[in-house]
Amino acid sequence: MLDKKEIHDLTSRISGLWVLNAPMASYTTLKVGGPAEILIEAENEHDVFLVIDYAKKTNTPLTILGNGSNLLVLDGGLKGIVLRLGGHFKKIKVLDNKITAGAAALLPKVARTAASHGLTGLEFVIGIPASLGGAVAMNAGVPEQVLSDVISSVQIINQQGHTRSFANGELDFSYRHSNINSQQEIVLSAELTMEHGDEAEIRLKMEEYLNKRKASQPMGMPNAGSIFKNPAGYAAGCLIDQAGLKGLTNGGAQISTRHANFIINGGHASAKDVLNLILLAQKSVLNQFGVELVPEIKIVGEEN
Ligand SMILES: Cc1cc2nc3c(=O)[nH]c(=O)nc-3n(C[C@H](O)[C@H](O)[C@H](O)COP(=O)(O)OP(=O)(O)OC[C@H]3O[C@@H](n4cnc5c(N)ncnc54)[C@H](O)[C@@H]3O)c2cc1C
Repeated sequence: MLDKKEIHDLTSRISGLWVLNAPMASYTTLKVGGPAEILIEAENEHDVFLVIDYAKKTNTPLTILGNGSNLLVLDGGLKGIVLRLGGHFKKIKVLDNKITAGAAALLPKVARTAASHGLTGLEFVIGIPASLGGAVAMNAGVPEQVLSDVISSVQIINQQGHTRSFANGELDFSYRHSNINSQQEIVLSAELTMEHGDEAEIRLKMEEYLNKRKASQPMGMPNAGSIFKNPAGYAAGCLIDQAGLKGLTNGGAQISTRHANFIINGGHASAKDVLNLILLAQKSVLNQFGVELVPEIKIVGEEN
């Protein structure tokens, strides 16, 4: 439980907005999950520093939220502080072939900015509804390309409140992985190095990526992207499909009939409904094919 007086002292010193008992269903693309004790949106680096400092001194759990597009928050919600970056962290700057953007900038917006400056290399992110910070931490990507292909450096603040810039090679990027520990380190911004290209061709490429998504993924229904990582040599969606689970429902959640590695919220799903389908898919695929499915989504919070 947060100490009311202490939290009042913190919120009176930050410039950003904050919400008590923030319903996480409203802050995640899957639209499920219980409340966060408090959600704070940091306007600037000073706000981030104050929150980190408070969490450390008071031993308060701190969860970093990006755009909530890869998160399953359980129905009991999140203890402590959920920190989201806003304000200053949404800025995108372009200089020659380099883009420097704050962690709260939305990935599709960064890609569109690149396109309008005739910069190529980011077309593939156009349908990924992530914040840049979350996408860096997760090394978001598609089969042909990952974000780390264009990252030159990342600015990170650690639990001690120290900020440092890390070069690409220091971050151990691999498939949906970086060594950024989101429980202790927060991405503040990233610098991307792109190639000069033809704007019309770049836009065409982006459209092709979007059309590909529209044809293969459930659009318009709340979801969190791919639930599982693809095990080496397999496609998680094919394994779930072959296990006979495509279209299976549990409460308000369903294994998508479009793409079996997606779970959709039909409108009234609980996190438990989603979690049951995740566990069932893991069990069935392990029993039938001897393959372990590892979640790509981050499961956080308390069960009811
Ligand atoms: C329709 C749809 C399509 C998708 N397609 C793809 C795809 O093609 N490829 C792909 O890779 N992913 C895809 N995703 C998943 C998701 O968009 C990515 O995993 C993305 O990287 C998550 O970013 P986020 O900002 O939403 O992070 P969140 O979901 O908010 O958080 C994810 C993790 O990152 C951490 N985090 C967030 N911000 C920061 C920060 N500033 N500093 C440190 N840690 C942070 C969080 O603590 C959490 O552990 C898709 C999702 C949806 C809903």
